[in-house]
Amino acid sequence: MPELPEVETVCRRLRPFVSGKTIETVDVLDAKIIRGHEPEQFVAHLLGETIIDVERRGKFILFKLTHGYLVSHLRMEGKFFPHDERVNPVKHSHVIFSFTDGSTLHYNDVRKFGTMELKTNEELFVTPPLSLLALEPFDPNVTAEALHKRLSRMNVRAIKTALLDQSIFVGLGNIYVDETLFRAGIHPTRPAASLSTVEVEAVRQEAIAVLTEAIERGGSTIRSYTNPDGATGTFQETLYVYGQTGNPCRKCGRPIEKMKLGGRGTHYCPHCQQ
Ligand SMILES: [Zn+2]
Repeated sequence: MPELPEVETVCRRLRPFVSGKTIETVDVLDAKIIRGHEPEQFVAHLLGETIIDVERRGKFILFKLTHGYLVSHLRMEGKFFPHDERVNPVKHSHVIFSFTDGSTLHYNDVRKFGTMELKTNEELFVTPPLSLLALEPFDPNVTAEALHKRLSRMNVRAIKTALLDQSIFVGLGNIYVDETLFRAGIHPTRPAASLSTVEVEAVRQEAIAVLTEAIERGGSTIRSYTNPDGATGTFQETLYVYGQTGNPCRKCGRPIEKMKLGGRGTHYCPHCQQ
């Protein structure tokens, strides 16, 4: 599943391709992807709309249109494939946008868990799904004090589980939580409420650093996930703990261990994270 850095990478690759293009036709080959409207209404609204920009909020891709937004979530396997010409639907093309300049954008989704939904400017941030999102670690309104207060109410919950819960931070998935906690030197099973303000600040800063580095490296290419044009991210080459089970820790040389925590594979160094 793509995480925040991979979705940001998708947005950065789509932005120069679609910005300024006007939608001529939309073919919805699988109505399951379309939420909130009937597919006919969805198509009717999009015809003649120009894509002004591509933005991101959490793991949602926001296509800013002349009127309102097209909000898309890739979920497990959703991918956008830009083409400079008309291309016949290939296997798993579920939505096809054709632009007035003759180029096309195909949305493919093998698992069909991804979504597309139209929102007006007024609805965008005050209705689900975006109204439900917490702040990103990058947001200047996220302070160590505010985070500490929220984590301190979580009693016995492990810090790893608390960070994966998107109500604290949005956009920190399994890979990036493991890397953040390693860099902050905090054991994943530590009760969230036991972290000091200083430790919470370390977590916040390392989360920003991990996500920023991952975005700069085009995200992580792991398992089946690749970027829309098939390009691969390289952040996985810099991982300290995720997927490194049994390898020597790059800080202390002792083997990285793996355990299950809240149902998720959790990677850590028992020496560096106490
Ligand atoms: Zn270590």
